[in-house]
Amino acid sequence: MKKRIIFSFWALTFGLAFTNCSPDPLPDNVDLLQYFGSIPPATTIESPYEGIDFDIINRFKAVLHTHTRVSDGKQTADEMIKAYADRGYHILAITDHDQVYAKNTGIVNVNGRDILVIKGIELTMTHHFNSLFEDSGKPLQLNVESQINYEIKKHNSVLFLNHPGRHIWFYPMTFYFDLFNKFPAENLVGMEVINNADEYPSDKDTWHKVLTGVSPNRTVYGFANDDAHYYSEIGSSYNEYLTDNLNEAEVRNAIVHGKSFFYTNATVSRPTGSMPYVKDVIVNRATMTITVEAENYSKIEWRSCGVVVCTDEEIAINNDGYNFYKYVQFTLTGPGGQLFSQPFLIK
Ligand SMILES: [Zn+2]
Ligand SMILES: [Zn+2]
Repeated sequence: MKKRIIFSFWALTFGLAFTNCSPDPLPDNVDLLQYFGSIPPATTIESPYEGIDFDIINRFKAVLHTHTRVSDGKQTADEMIKAYADRGYHILAITDHDQVYAKNTGIVNVNGRDILVIKGIELTMTHHFNSLFEDSGKPLQLNVESQINYEIKKHNSVLFLNHPGRHIWFYPMTFYFDLFNKFPAENLVGMEVINNADEYPSDKDTWHKVLTGVSPNRTVYGFANDDAHYYSEIGSSYNEYLTDNLNEAEVRNAIVHGKSFFYTNATVSRPTGSMPYVKDVIVNRATMTITVEAENYSKIEWRSCGVVVCTDEEIAINNDGYNFYKYVQFTLTGPGGQLFSQPFLIK
């Protein structure tokens, strides 16, 4: 009962503080001048891709949510590791329900190909979430907040919330705002936006609502994972981490700082050919613009506060009459599928 009162009070405060930018995404044909008007020009852009030289950085294909026979999967961990390595993935987190997999982890060589296997667990007592880089997950706590608190205190692990669409009837949006405002960004890093073959399509909107609620004080990185329970679920959704080398420390750092894109082929009909490919991301703070150079795509959409605000390669944050704020994020759509950027914070 007490908790409910706190939630309502917080929702009221939130509503009053952000009159121009509702956490509910508006239709695409919204009047931007009316929606974003009367906001002072932003002074800086924080890019997750800061310092990355796209000409030389390595790109590692990753799935961070996988099941095996230890819980309700059909294959063994070794079989799943081999299956992902054979298909050209570089990183795999084994995350069985409420059971840590920590046996064959680190760099594993499969038929001459290296794959980084990350130990992890999917906590499923309440709202599902993944906890990576931990050795033992028990004991289970009573609610999400105390479980997250336990994981961070005990394991200093890296956590992200799974498939919110599966839980949408039980958790109000304030639940997400509260969690992301409460826990450190280097531990609770984000949420799944694509699960399996886009099993919960509303998760894309939920991500933008959460971003609208908590940006730019902190960010919420997006994830795309097969959540495979057997071989045939492999291959639709993945992340790509941008690091110099394939090792646990650099990959953890890339996960925590959003140095990644995420992809799915499940949101385009009959996907053919290559996925969209980002060649460069250029942030210019003098002109307050972000420019994307890419290939294998036919459409680019920039979103701010859940609304599509620009469909060009270059977005100007400060315009005549209205300014975007909180965050912007771009999505590339091509014949092979969709690429999602992480959010750029606007301050
Ligand atoms: Zn789950
Ligand atoms: Zn799962």
